[in-house]
This record gives sequence, C-alpha cells and structure tokens, in this order.
Amino acid sequence: MAGEREGPAIGIDLGTTYSCAAVWHHGDVEIIPNDQGNRITPSYVAFNETECLIGHAAENVVDINPANTIFGAKRLIGRRFSDPLVQKDSMLWPFKVISSHDDKPMIVVTYKGEEIQFAAEQICSMVLTKMKEIAEAFLGCSVKNAVISVPAYFNGSQRQLIKEAGTIAGLNILRLIAEPTAAAIAYGLQKKYSNTSPINVLVFDLGGGNLDVSVLTIENSIFQVKAVAGDTHLGGEDFDNRMVGYFVEEIKRKHKKDISGNPRTLRRLRTACERAKRNLSFMAHTTIALEHLYDGIDFEYKLTRETFEELNMYLFEECIGHVDKCLKDAQIDQESIHDVVLVGGSTRIPMIQQLLKDFFNGKELCKSIHPDEAVASGAAIQAAILSGHSEISDIELCDVAPLSLGVMTSGGEMEVVIPRNTPIPTKIKKILKKGIDRKKVRFSVYQGESERTRGDNTLLGEFVLSAQRNVSCLNVSFDIDANGILNVSAEEKDSRKKSIIDKVGGWLHKKKIDRPVEEASS
Ligand code: ADP
Ligand code: MG
Repeated sequence: MAGEREGPAIGIDLGTTYSCAAVWHHGDVEIIPNDQGNRITPSYVAFNETECLIGHAAENVVDINPANTIFGAKRLIGRRFSDPLVQKDSMLWPFKVISSHDDKPMIVVTYKGEEIQFAAEQICSMVLTKMKEIAEAFLGCSVKNAVISVPAYFNGSQRQLIKEAGTIAGLNILRLIAEPTAAAIAYGLQKKYSNTSPINVLVFDLGGGNLDVSVLTIENSIFQVKAVAGDTHLGGEDFDNRMVGYFVEEIKRKHKKDISGNPRTLRRLRTACERAKRNLSFMAHTTIALEHLYDGIDFEYKLTRETFEELNMYLFEECIGHVDKCLKDAQIDQESIHDVVLVGGSTRIPMIQQLLKDFFNGKELCKSIHPDEAVASGAAIQAAILSGHSEISDIELCDVAPLSLGVMTSGGEMEVVIPRNTPIPTKIKKILKKGIDRKKVRFSVYQGESERTRGDNTLLGEFVLSAQRNVSCLNVSFDIDANGILNVSAEEKDSRKKSIIDKVGGWLHKKKIDRPVEEASS
C-alpha cells in the first residue's frame, strides 16, 4: 500500500509438530529463528488462568497442564468427529475433543476459568499468529504477506481451512504450496538446477502428522509435479501412539491398572515414548523410566530398536506402499529417479531409510537438504517469486490435484470429472444428465479413487438446485485454483440460464444449498 512500509513476504511451514518460517534475503533463503533462538517452533498452544501460550512456552507446560495444552491440531483439520481416525487420536490425547452439533471435532479447554471450544483451524491460526510475530521481531517490520505450505495430500476443503486460519492470523495468503513441492524447490535451488537435461526427483516427506510422496521432473528452472501420493494421517505421532498403546497394555498386564483415562499419566508416557523413539534413531536400545507414573507405579522399560520397529513395521511398510503408488502414477520406474530426497523429522528413523533404500535397489538417499527447514525454505522462495524478486523469477512451478474429483451417478458410481494428478490450476466442464425432468436437481461432489462413491470416497458437498422450470441437463464446472481449492458451479444446459456457484471448501458436510436458479439477463 502506498506510503505504508510493507515487510517482505515470508514462507511458513505450518507443521503438525513443528512450524518454521523463512524469508528470501540478500539473494538467499534465511530461516527465521524464534525468540528462543530456535529455528523451529513447536505447534503447541496452551491455555491457563491468565493467558494463552504458543510455541515453546506451551510445550514447556505440557506435563503440568496436559488437559489444556493442545498439539497435533492439524490432524483434525477438515475431518469429522465420527471419523475413526479422529476417534483413535482423541482417545490417546490428554486434551478433550468433542463433537459439535454437525459432527465437527471441537477441542475443549479451560481458559481464564471458562470452558471454551476451539476448532482445529482456530488453533492453527494461533500458531500462524506466533510465526508472524516471530518474523516481525526478526525483520523489524510488520509482515502481512505469506505463502503457507500444506500437505500435498490435503484436499480442497482442508486447504481452504488452512487459508482461513491464515486470514484469522492477519496474514494475506499469497499462495498455498504443497509441502513436498516446496522441499523440491529448496533442493533445486541448492543444486542450482545445474542439470541441462531433466532430472526426476522423488520427495519423501514424513513428519509428525502426515506422509507426502511426490515425484517431480526438474528441467532448468521448471518444477513439474508428475504425481503425488500419501496419507494425511500417517507420521511420527502414529509411531508415538503405537508405543503409548503398547505400554498402556503392558501396564494393564503387569500392574492390573488402566492408565488410559488419566491425561497427566498419558502425557508423561507420550513424552517419554517420543524421546525414546528419537534415541532409537541413534542407539540400539534405550530405557523409559517414569517415577510415580500412576497409583504407586514406578515404570521402567528397556526398549530396543527392534521392538520399536516391530511395533511400527506395518506403518513403515504403508509408507513404502505410497512410494510405489506414486511412481506408478507418475509412470516412472525406480531406476529413472535421480534423487530420493528426505524431508521431515521422521525420515531420521533408520528402518524408514533402510526400507526406502531397499525399494530403490540400494540407491543412496539424498540427505543434503535440512529435513526440518526445507519446506519453509521452498515456501519462502515461492513467496519471493510471487512478490516479484527478479533474481528467481525464472522458477516455474506446476503442481497437481492429489485426488480424483467427481460426481455421483444415479447408480451410485463415481463419475470422475478431474482425475488425480491433473495439473492445476484447471477448469473442467461436464454435462450431467438427470434422467427425468424435474424442478429440483440434486448432485453430490465426491473425491477419491473408488468406483463406488459410497465405497471409500469422501463426500465433499451435496447440492440441490431449484429451478423455475424442469431441468434435465446441467453443465457442471469444476475449477481448481493454484492453491488446490475446488470451486464447483452449475448451470442449466439448455436455457443457458446461470445458476449457482458455490465453493466446495471450508467446513464441508452433507450440505444442502437450496437456492433458486437465477435468471441471467442474457
Ligand atoms: P511436521 O511437519 O508434521 O511438523 P516434522 O517434520 O517437524 O513434522 O517432524 C516431526 C516428527 O519427527 C515428530 O513426530 C518427531 O517425533 C519426529 N522426529 C524428530 N526427530 C526424530 C528422530 N531423531 N527419530 C525419529 N523421529 C524423529
Ligand atoms: Mg512437515
């Protein structure tokens, strides 16, 4: 804005576990340290009698105030309370998650003596506010513009919610960028994309909450995503959950005591498990020792790397399954991948590395980019490009839609409108025949790869159009923007009368939009 000094645009990696901010500065990326001098900030928010703490301050009180210290909120984004994954998580979390009247998970805390409910995106917005403040303190000016990274496998509504979280935090979101794509830019910049011939890169990003796998072709400064795969609910937290669950059973068996209803005990156990997991990345065994854990129990357990691996092997194998699927979708074989780039804290696990290496027939993995900082670096580069930094303006990104999108046919089948891995932005139109003429036409938008919509596919929105006359055919248009957010619009085919336009985003439920079809003036 004229007359107002606007700070630089920053990149924010809003992680499930840790967040990181970066900025393009003097021709290079700079990671922004927080008030404690750390380059990553825990995505924790804690509430007490007097204040709301975010980041390290919140993580520090987790053992004292477990029921009001929130972590992992990003895992709830865009999910229903009844989702089995939400049920499973909340059973092991020391804070309370309940259902709103429309099946949305709400986090319940006591703040300033009052019980308050927060949606996951509100907690995320608090973390983003903290990242904005960290950047402002470091840069000495106000920061408004940002690129925020999201899991590549996030759907449109999850992306929309992250965008809203950014807006609540007072940020102007220049763009959402897929996390592995951001990491690939950081990788590409490091290599100075020196190769004249195109190279294929597989980014394997395993963090605390999710796995993203992405196959890209990099040619000169053009980054073309070929395919993505992954799971928005598979990461370090799941390995911790498995350990916590194992020890809950162990204590039941050995001490005949059930600790699962006690937040403080669960929290102490979880912290110890996570620490043990990290140790086991560098050591063959470690000891978990928790004095006075519960009802007179002093808990001690010698955990070997082998036991840890046995507990989680099926999850590790799932990770490799996503790599296989991604390569198949990209139609690129193992031998044609030049580099397997590791991103995310959980890629430090030796067995993950071993399985990946085996899958790529003994190929050495690329560990040259920082697993905790690469995503923020890429987001900062994208922010700089979008705000007109000429020295990197030649970088071009082409991302894809991670999941197929379509409508349900009258027979309950999935009619795909946008197949997965279609380059975005994109706009695809489809004529939808609705058997009999009627004044009310209903159609449902689904995402997923199952042939039957009600199989494994997810309902994104249900639309009911009321027309002033009978309608037999609709022109339905699916529009995915550069952020990966889907908008659906529909109009009567025959009369070319304009009808509804609605965003398939935000909080999506079985939603009915009953609006009269408007007459266009044309
Ligand atoms: P996110 O992007 O989800 O915030 P990160 O990439 O920051 O996640 O990774 C955090 C996850 O990595 C946590 O689950 C943490 O326990 C795990 N992690 C960090 N260091 C190690 C390690 N040395 N060994 C195993 N897991 C680790
Ligand atoms: Mg991450």
